[in-house]
Amino acid sequence: MQFQPVFNSDRPIQIAGPCSAETEAQVLATAHGLKDQGIHLFRAGIWKPRTRPGAFEGVGTPGLKWLQRVKQETGLAVTTEVANAQHVYDCLKYGIDVLWIGARTTVNPFSVQEIADALEGADVPVLVKNPVNPDYKLWVGAIERLHKAGLRRIAAVHRGFSTYGDSKYRNLPRWQMAIDLMQEFPDLEIICDISHICGRRDILAETAQKAYDLNYDGLMVEVHPEPDQAWSDAAQQITPERYGEMIRGLMRRVASTNDPEYLARIENYRTEIDDIDEELIQLIARRMLLVREIGVVKKEKNVAVLQPERFRALREALHRRGEKNELSPEFIAMLLEAVHQESITQQERIMNAAESGKLKAKSGKWKAES
Ligand code: PEP
Ligand code: MN
Repeated sequence: MQFQPVFNSDRPIQIAGPCSAETEAQVLATAHGLKDQGIHLFRAGIWKPRTRPGAFEGVGTPGLKWLQRVKQETGLAVTTEVANAQHVYDCLKYGIDVLWIGARTTVNPFSVQEIADALEGADVPVLVKNPVNPDYKLWVGAIERLHKAGLRRIAAVHRGFSTYGDSKYRNLPRWQMAIDLMQEFPDLEIICDISHICGRRDILAETAQKAYDLNYDGLMVEVHPEPDQAWSDAAQQITPERYGEMIRGLMRRVASTNDPEYLARIENYRTEIDDIDEELIQLIARRMLLVREIGVVKKEKNVAVLQPERFRALREALHRRGEKNELSPEFIAMLLEAVHQESITQQERIMNAAESGKLKAKSGKWKAES
């Protein structure tokens, strides 16, 4: 798939505005507060898909006139969320400049197809948020449906993934998924929606800096004149003034440089890192060899593969070591999960190998010797 830029301005692109359009006065106050903060696109949700009923579900079509007024009074381009064909027709009728597909819509191929069909022949850029669940193919699939409908000005919006339980973030970023998207589609613009990733205003700035450091094409930020009074997503919204301060405080770093000193130093580090990676793989392979030996013994004695007590002890020890070595608990948990999962898979192969015959753990083959 090939794409054309949605935004022809210098990077990073700034998209900002309230989570929801609540009243005409609130929409206009936000837009006027933002118009001198260098934003490229003004956002406001008119139709709000909410996780649970009873929450504010948007003002609907009357809000489109408010966005038209924003355009007239401030000259800003405007965007809103569409979730079905009727929303698309209404937006096209009211001259909305850019549409976005929300996370709860991207997840549903029927809805995305309906939107894509409604957009056939239209020349309007569309932003596609990631689905609520970390399903890379579903995200790419939604983009593909729009592409097949003839749209080229498409950008992705990374807003993180739903989670259950305690986390610093409202939606886990899983940065690697956005990085994978950047690598697979180098001409697809990717915007980081830090507001929905964070869910709280105190960590917005550090997350915005992270997005800059990862070379996103821009940011989407929720801004409200009175954040605590917002009818939706109050905890993550900030005032236009605070927004301006945050953006001005971010460090822009160059994508790369040909400075020979930089190149030489980086080359040295990279050589060392490559050596370490080789050692890491060797070490993990040695560990797996032992795991397979244990598999042979467990099989002989008819003992279960998964030993919860042992796993608990291993996890505690690893977390302690991780802490001593400045490795985050999240990293240790992921590492442990990956290694443990592979160990279980390898032991299961041993356990399920043909009953008769001698097992060859050492050779790296799991089939029974005949
Ligand atoms: C929003 O942008 O206000 C919104 C509802 O976002 P998401 O679809 O990412 O939850
Ligand atoms: Mn929101």
